[in-house]
Amino acid sequence: DELISQIAAGEVVERPASVVRELVDNALDAGAKNVLVKLMAGGVRAIVVEDDGCGIPVTQLPLALKRHATSKIASLGELESVATMGFRGEALAAIASVSEMSVASRTADAAHAHRLDARSGELSAAARSRGTSVEVRELFFATPARRKFLKTDATELAHCVEAVRRHALARPDVGFAIWHEGKLVDQWRAASVEQRISDVLGEDFVHDSRAFEHSAGPLGVIRPPGQANVLAAPRGGQGNLGRPGISLTGRAGLPEASRSRADQQYVWVNGRYVRDKLISHAIRSAYEDVLHGQRQPSYVLFIEIAPELVDVNVHPTKIEVRFRDGRAIHQAVRRAFIDALAQSRS
Ligand code: ADP
Ligand code: MG
Repeated sequence: DELISQIAAGEVVERPASVVRELVDNALDAGAKNVLVKLMAGGVRAIVVEDDGCGIPVTQLPLALKRHATSKIASLGELESVATMGFRGEALAAIASVSEMSVASRTADAAHAHRLDARSGELSAAARSRGTSVEVRELFFATPARRKFLKTDATELAHCVEAVRRHALARPDVGFAIWHEGKLVDQWRAASVEQRISDVLGEDFVHDSRAFEHSAGPLGVIRPPGQANVLAAPRGGQGNLGRPGISLTGRAGLPEASRSRADQQYVWVNGRYVRDKLISHAIRSAYEDVLHGQRQPSYVLFIEIAPELVDVNVHPTKIEVRFRDGRAIHQAVRRAFIDALAQSRS
């Protein structure tokens, strides 16, 4: 069983950055306003993620570490409309099976925090304010084959920082800080969308890009950007508003920009960072259409779509999604970029 869970963990936990991503997902699902990430040796030696979210009741702590235990959906039907980052109930169990993990947490009404050590199952009193701290040490210590595949600490650190960056861009309302070996690497205070993009991607990026806002179809059940992960989607909200639609916002990098960077291409669907061939194709074709070239544009694109129109349960790491109506998405994305680029020329 230990072996099976370690194999399963391989699908979720590839490297320190995967751990960072899952733990920050959980912090955001818990309604955190501040998320602190502390790393040692690129995250291989230690990853600590602290949040000021709702915390885990002590009675639920052991359950939270069990496989397929999630507090986020109660039935398969709810998967259709999942509004949280997590829902598979796999991450904590998977991480625990390939590391030394402990979780300390405190809810608002608890007299103090509790810490649960994953390996020993030992529960002890701990000191912290409301929220949760997850500590992950010695990743892959028991699976040397996997550990061998890790790159240098500097490279693993860069991947960890990138994971936080993706969260930070999607959630400007939340403050983030990343520490490595006791030194502050990056810090982003809660800000407007525009300011956060500038803080994370640089003033140049904002200067050399055009904002766009595009929607297709009635916007019945779409949640405002930035709140996508905290609030549950209103059930049946589309009711008499007709078909749910798509909202696209973001910034399209301009061709005039001297440094156009392929490493600044970001797409989120309902707050979740994704990689999607259909979407990148639509964007590339817009650039080709308007500008006859510019193959490596920089861009950020936030897609908000009714959760029932997108399947997020395609891949264990949830980086891939499947749209119910891929053609409509392709068209809307293409249109949004064409409009932004055409505008910038006039
Ligand atoms: P999932 O996020 O898919 O539900 P996880 O294994 O990531 O699965 O987490 C299991 C459960 O532990 C969550 O459903 C949640 O109830 C709880 N949990 C994990 N991390 C936190 C956190 N930072 N704050 C509050 N609750 C948490
Ligand atoms: Mg999770």
